[in-house]
Amino acid sequence: MKGSGRVETAQRLRALPPYLFAELDRRKAALRAKGVDIIDLGVGDPDLPTPKRIVERMREEVLNPRSHRYPSYEGLRDFREAVSRWYERRFGVMLDPDGEVLALIGSKEGIAHIPLAFINPGAYSLVPSPGYPVYHAGTVFAGGRSFFLPLVEEQGFLPDLGQVPQEVAELATLLFINYPNNPTAAVADTAFFTEVVEFARRHRLIVCHDAAYSEISYDGYTPPSFLEVDGAKEVGVEFHSLSKTYNMTGWRLGFAVGNREVLAGLGKTKTNIDSGVFQAVQWAGIEALKGDQSDVEQMRATYQGRRDVMVRGIRAVGLEVTPPRATFYLWVKVPPRHDSVSFASLVLNEAGVVLTPGSGFGEAGEGYVRLALTVPEARLEEAIERLQRISL
Ligand SMILES: *Cc1c(COP(=O)(O)O)cnc(C)c1O
Repeated sequence: MKGSGRVETAQRLRALPPYLFAELDRRKAALRAKGVDIIDLGVGDPDLPTPKRIVERMREEVLNPRSHRYPSYEGLRDFREAVSRWYERRFGVMLDPDGEVLALIGSKEGIAHIPLAFINPGAYSLVPSPGYPVYHAGTVFAGGRSFFLPLVEEQGFLPDLGQVPQEVAELATLLFINYPNNPTAAVADTAFFTEVVEFARRHRLIVCHDAAYSEISYDGYTPPSFLEVDGAKEVGVEFHSLSKTYNMTGWRLGFAVGNREVLAGLGKTKTNIDSGVFQAVQWAGIEALKGDQSDVEQMRATYQGRRDVMVRGIRAVGLEVTPPRATFYLWVKVPPRHDSVSFASLVLNEAGVVLTPGSGFGEAGEGYVRLALTVPEARLEEAIERLQRISL
């Protein structure tokens, strides 16, 4: 049924959660326009450049006419093989490049599209809250509903699967999990993944594990893959991205691995929507995965240094934070008498520092703000000095 407006968006757009940060964004733009030096700890986009070896590989391949044509939708055989080798080396997980690896135009693309393959109208996705907004948006676009799994500190920010009502579990087809986690920076061990496999088996769910931050970890900690645990490949897939590991957010390259039938469903959806990843970008990705990984080691050291500066500083100004073992985020409790939006506004107005209110990641994110360590150490120190000057 048409309304009276000239242009009316579809219900699925109107069904998306309201954008909570409009006022903060306006304020940020206004301060910038006045010449205020804003320190933006709001965006999860690495400030460091893509390693040179990867850029050079791209440069070569851009000049090669073989790269200029439509790619195959599932990704170059060489790319899928590079992913399979990387998985074996990194996690000890064996993957068949033919059928157990699918190239994605960034992992966000695959995460957004997978509900179209597996969600019927009215079906549920089980979605973490707080969480990466795409799990819910993709579900809504597919006509489904999200049942939110609160991630709370007392549970180590792991969902309590026992709290999912029987009738919801029966109507659910997808379960999204994400460790190392954005925004809470929590990590999961294989015992949790084993529990997830059992739960998924019992309720015939497809597990979608978002592992975008698997390579951003500290103090010698190495995050596991969901696919390391017995039976995982029977129940799910893992989404990966080159964005964070190799500072390639703008390049748009990711992949999904694991269950063959699930990947076939996602692949069929994609053949009807997109035409794959620019082949030159895939060759650059092959170099990223197969080449000398010392740049990744260097990047971890850089973030670890920033983390240490920021954790010390945050505690010095009297705020509470758990030092993260992975991701480039700090999940910081807001002080008493504030909620996450009012606290972020105060810090923006008084200190010119941008933080992301936790409530923007879902109701259960209320009471926290997220800080991204995606600015140089000197700027983090400056941010702390400014926070020290205001009364929190
Ligand atoms: C950054 C991010 C991604 C994906 O990024 P792409 O650039 O689309 O590969 C996926 N999940 C989470 C939780 C992220 O933070």
